[in-house]
Amino acid sequence: MGLATGVGMSAEPAPASKPVMFSGKIESVRMADDLVVFAGAGGNVAVWFDAGRMLMIDAGIPHRSAELIGLVTKLAPDAKSKTLFNTHWHFDHTGGNAAFVAAGFTTVGTAACRQRLGETINLADLGMTVEPTPETARPVVAFEEKLTLFAGAEPVRLIKFPASHTDTDAVAYFEKRNLLHTGDLLVSGGYPVIDRATGGSLDGMIAATKLLRTVGDEKTTIIPGHGPVGDRAMIQTQLDLLNLVRDRLAPLAEKKMTLDEVSKLAPLADLDDKWGRGFLRSPVFTRMAYGQWVK
Ligand SMILES: [Zn+2]
Repeated sequence: MGLATGVGMSAEPAPASKPVMFSGKIESVRMADDLVVFAGAGGNVAVWFDAGRMLMIDAGIPHRSAELIGLVTKLAPDAKSKTLFNTHWHFDHTGGNAAFVAAGFTTVGTAACRQRLGETINLADLGMTVEPTPETARPVVAFEEKLTLFAGAEPVRLIKFPASHTDTDAVAYFEKRNLLHTGDLLVSGGYPVIDRATGGSLDGMIAATKLLRTVGDEKTTIIPGHGPVGDRAMIQTQLDLLNLVRDRLAPLAEKKMTLDEVSKLAPLADLDDKWGRGFLRSPVFTRMAYGQWVK
């Protein structure tokens, strides 16, 4: 999640947030001869390729699709076997699906992701409603817990996570090169989104962040959902933030404070200097994080 407008949704201004419109240049980072990460078209997009095949992870937002397809196609213009894996349902990761399906990609995602893409979802915290994705642009290969794809000879393990960011998230782990695309279970440089409209919660995010450490090892390279590629230190950084947030909010929940009362207290305002430079600022993130106590 990382923007506020786009095809297929109606958007109100998100209160006290700074929506990122992904209107700048799409940056590419060459991770290896056969693997490139594209940033700036929505969530981070990773593409493995050889002369005849492509495996792409996430598809950006709709209005950057044409540009993204141009960049991706250039990597392997003659590829005939083309697969797109969606890490979760959010439109900055699946918004390009329709265009990539039209370009010959086969879509893969969790069964929960396919299901959510068929729903109208009111993202109240962000002041927007997301309309269903056309059936033809939802994953046509759906899995419950795990699935292995192959990037040439290399297994790519797709692993579903318990509800945390949403209830549709799965990561992609390139086993031989020890590279993990986390989707939005991990975001660098800002507060992570907790989508409580589709099963997200603070405690779920804390558990999922810990669980990320069980994939790969100390040397795993990480492509987060948003922000620069990095290493496992990013996991601890996010965990420290989430634990700090919980330490501040849990006592307010024990006092049975309402969401509006907590919002007025602005208990996370001082964190914005460091964490409020991404998509979210503390007023919205506080609502997302406190939501688990006031369902
Ligand atoms: Zn997301």
